[in-house]
Amino acid sequence: AVAEPLTIQAELKTKLKEVFGFGQFRGTQEAVIQNIISGNNTFVIMPTGAGKSLCYQLPALVLPGTAIVISPLIALMKNQVDQMAAFGINAQVYNSTLTKTEQNRVRKDVIAGEVRLLYVAPESLTKDDTIAFLQKASISFVAIDEAHCISEWGHDFRPEYRKIRGIIDNLGGRIPLIALTATATPKVQLDIQKNLHMDDASVFKTSFNRTNLYYEVRAKRNTKKQLIQYVQQHKGKAGIIYCLSRKKVEEVAELLRVNDVRALPYHAGLDPQTRMHNQDAFLNEECDVIVATIAFGMGIDKPDVRFVIHFDAPKSIEGYYQETGRGGRDGLEGNCLMFYSYDDILKLEKFSKDKPVMERDNARQLLLEMTNYSESAVCRRRQLLHYFGEHLDTDCGFCDNCRHPKERYDGTEHVGLALRAVVQTEARFGLEHVAQVLLGLSNPHIESYGHTGLPVYGQGKALSGDVQHWQSVLRQCMLLGLLEKDIDSIGMVRITEKGIDFIENPSPLTLTKDHDFEAEKQVEEDE
Ligand code: ADP
Ligand code: ZN
Repeated sequence: AVAEPLTIQAELKTKLKEVFGFGQFRGTQEAVIQNIISGNNTFVIMPTGAGKSLCYQLPALVLPGTAIVISPLIALMKNQVDQMAAFGINAQVYNSTLTKTEQNRVRKDVIAGEVRLLYVAPESLTKDDTIAFLQKASISFVAIDEAHCISEWGHDFRPEYRKIRGIIDNLGGRIPLIALTATATPKVQLDIQKNLHMDDASVFKTSFNRTNLYYEVRAKRNTKKQLIQYVQQHKGKAGIIYCLSRKKVEEVAELLRVNDVRALPYHAGLDPQTRMHNQDAFLNEECDVIVATIAFGMGIDKPDVRFVIHFDAPKSIEGYYQETGRGGRDGLEGNCLMFYSYDDILKLEKFSKDKPVMERDNARQLLLEMTNYSESAVCRRRQLLHYFGEHLDTDCGFCDNCRHPKERYDGTEHVGLALRAVVQTEARFGLEHVAQVLLGLSNPHIESYGHTGLPVYGQGKALSGDVQHWQSVLRQCMLLGLLEKDIDSIGMVRITEKGIDFIENPSPLTLTKDHDFEAEKQVEEDE
C-alpha cells in the first residue's frame, strides 16, 4: 500500500518537536498556525511570553515561499534570526544595518526561495527598491509583530506602521496577514483590524490574566526607604526597577549598591558595551537587580524575575502591564509594586505639552486611565483585565486592594444617579463633565449644552460634594458593565443594556472608596 501522507496536524507536531524541541503547543498556538496555513487572515492577541513568535515561525517552515516578518526593533530581529539559525532555519534580516553586498545576497537568496523568514523593519519596507525586490519574491504570508504600533490610540504609535497595508497591496496577489500584539484594548484592536483591512480575520485572544502576579500600588513617600526595605526582603532574587529618567536610574542603582544590593543601571545613555554588559550580568545572575528606563526588557526572556518595581508612575496601563509582565514568567512568584504620586502624572503630562493636539489628548487620556487605576481601591486585576476588554466576575484575592480592602459603602443610589446623568447628557461626555453636572457645577461647557436644565443637575450634591467621588462611582459602573467606553471617541462613556436594566430595576450594590494618596501624604508632612 502507498504510505499515507502525514496529516498537517501530525506534520506540525513533528516540526514542533524536531525543529524547536517543544513537546506541546501552548494555548491557542496550534489553532493559530492551522488558520495561517489555511490562508486566512489571523489576529493574535497574547500576553508577553505566551509564545507568539512560534505562531509565524512554524507556518513559515511548512508553507512554500518566504514569510515576511515586520518588526519594529532591529535588535529584536537580530535576536530572532540568531535563534532561528540555531534551529537550523534560514532566516534573514533586511534593514539599514546591512551593507550593499549583504543586501544583494539576501535578495538573491529570497528570490531563489531559500529563505524561510525575512525580518524587515517598517522603515525599510517603505523604500521603493525594497518593494521592487519583494515583488519578485514568492511570499507565503506577512506577519506584523507588535501590531499595536499601528494605532494612534495605543502607547507605542509608529507612523510607518500605517503604511504597511498599502505596501502589501503593491506586492501583488492575495497575501494572508497575521497581526500579533501583547497589548490591545478593544479600541486599539478595532483600529488595527481597520487599518490592515482585516475585519475578516480570525481573532485569537488569550486571557491577559497573569494569576501569579501580585499587584500593589503605594503612595510615593519615603520611597527610597521603602524601596530598600522591599529589595532587602527579596534579597538575592532577580528584580527590575523602572524609573522615568536616566538620572533617576543612576541614582537608584547607586542607592541600592551602597545598601549591599547587587544592582546595575540600564538606559539608552550608557554606551552600548556597558549596556550589553549590564544586561548580560542580569541574565547570568551576576547581578540581582537591574534599574532601568523602559528601554530595558523588550525581548528579554528571563523567566525568574521575582519583582518588578515602578519607582515612577508609568505613562499608560499598556506600558505598565507589559513591564510588570516581565515578572514571574516561569509561573512562580511575581511581585509588582508601583509607587504612585499625582505629581508624577503631572510631570508626564508636561512631556506631551508641545505635541500635536491629537497626540496630546491621547497621552492625557492614557495618563488619566493610569491615575484611575492607581487611585482606585477596586481589585487591581479586575481593573487591568477590564482595560483589555476582559471581564472578571469576582475579586481576585491576590492584589493589595483585595488583601487590604478599603472602606465600602452602599452605592445603589449613587449608581442610579450616575447612570441617569450619563443618559441625560446623551452619552456624549467624559466622566468629569458628568460628575460636574451631578454636582450642579457650572462652566461654559455645561452652560452651552444647557445641562443646567437637566433633571439630574445638582442631584448628586446630597450624597457627596466631591467631583472625585462621582468620577469614582462612574468608573466603578464601567467595571460592573453598567457603562462602557465609547469606542469611537476618547474618554466618552455610554450606558449598556445592563445599565438600563439597573435604572429600571435597581438592586443593592456595594462600592469602594478610592485611595486618597494625597491626604496620606499630607498626614505625613504634618507629623
Ligand atoms: P512572546 O513573543 O509572546 O512574548 P515568545 O515567542 O518570545 O513570546 O516566547 C516566549 C518563550 O516561550 C520563548 O522562550 C519560547 O521559546 C517559548 N515557547 C514558545 N512556544 C512554546 C511551546 N509550545 N512550548 C514550550 N515553550 C515555548
Ligand atoms: Zn484583586
